[in-house]
Amino acid sequence: MSDFFQIAIDGPVAAGKGTVSRLLAQKLGFLYVDTGAMYRATALLAIRHEIDLNDEDKVVAILKKSKLEMRNPLPPDEIDGRLTTVILDGEDVSWAIRTQECSEGSSKVAVLKKLRKVLVAKQQEIAKSQDVVMEGRDITFRVLPEADLKIFLTASIKARAERRHTQYLIKGMNNTLEEVIEEIKERDERDTKRKTDPLHITTDDWVLDTSDLSIEEVVDTIAQRVRKIQKQK
Ligand code: C5P
Repeated sequence: MSDFFQIAIDGPVAAGKGTVSRLLAQKLGFLYVDTGAMYRATALLAIRHEIDLNDEDKVVAILKKSKLEMRNPLPPDEIDGRLTTVILDGEDVSWAIRTQECSEGSSKVAVLKKLRKVLVAKQQEIAKSQDVVMEGRDITFRVLPEADLKIFLTASIKARAERRHTQYLIKGMNNTLEEVIEEIKERDERDTKRKTDPLHITTDDWVLDTSDLSIEEVVDTIAQRVRKIQKQK
């Protein structure tokens, strides 16, 4: 087990992982690591370079040539609703990686075994030197299997689709709820059926269903458990 406190959170699309992890990290003074942003940034790179998203070697090569940095949003310019700041070759792509094209692209590149290996190593490196709340789809069983607290955050498909739909409306996108449900189902399917490290619940995961809980309730529940574990550590 690491000297630092590691909280690993996995879960399906739109379960609230990002918001919960960011607030939890803020409350505990930990670093928030959005690993999905790394897959999204890779998809953006590949799209911009017109690389076929199935071409494993080319996707990995372009990522290795690029510089990907992530940090907590810095005031004042970066406090604009984002959860994390992503800098790709010096350019702030925090919003560019959130388009629907990048969402779809990220779940496509996420099936590439060699790419996962590179990103998992980067994520493990980050968690070696500081307390982290790290969220994604393989954190509890691949990236940080020895984490102090492992959570599978989930919610009903209805609750997830409604949340994502509201986020889209705020952004001025007018997808219907039915379209959002379809998009979520497709991405769930890819995440849970991929050959390398498919998303799944491990036997020592704490399964937290957030369908009927507010964000604050979820964050407080987790923080309480963290404090208990910290006392024993
Ligand atoms: O969490 P987010 O939706 O931003 O992640 C984008 C995509 O990256 C996911 O749909 C998933 O396919 C992939 N991903 C992954 N493993 C992670 C994090 C994200 O496969 N640890």
